[in-house]
Amino acid sequence: MNLNNDTTKNTGSYLKEYDIKPSYQRIKIFEYLRNTKSHPTVDEIFKEIVQEIPTLSKTTVYNTLSLFIEKGIVTVITIEENETRYDADTSLHGHFKCKSCGKVYDFDIKVSKEDIGDLDGFEVDEKHLYFKGSCKACLKNKLKQ
Ligand SMILES: [Zn+2]
Ligand SMILES: [Zn+2]
Repeated sequence: MNLNNDTTKNTGSYLKEYDIKPSYQRIKIFEYLRNTKSHPTVDEIFKEIVQEIPTLSKTTVYNTLSLFIEKGIVTVITIEENETRYDADTSLHGHFKCKSCGKVYDFDIKVSKEDIGDLDGFEVDEKHLYFKGSCKACLKNKLKQ
């Protein structure tokens, strides 16, 4: 038994917990999302997984992602209107997009009930916090030029 098979099995039972039939494609897509910090787009996910599963179609990736979102194990990031990205980290955190290199970074946030006191009595379904600017690496490069 190798480790790879073992994680596939674990991902399979995780998906089952959320009432998702763990097909090989779904497992691969979810594992890729969970193991990357890059918040990939559908195109990026497709390009990556199709190398391993040549029969994969982009529609399957779309449908799989919709299912994951519906079941609450993946969240959508719409920091840019024309660009949808996906995140398997569903805990509350903010996203920072660098305008120079286009990378999306995670950052920790804590929002307490008091912070959103203006919404007392409201029901919040989604929380998104988006920052934009220049990342550390790009700022350093700029200085060097
Ligand atoms: Zn940058
Ligand atoms: Zn994130």
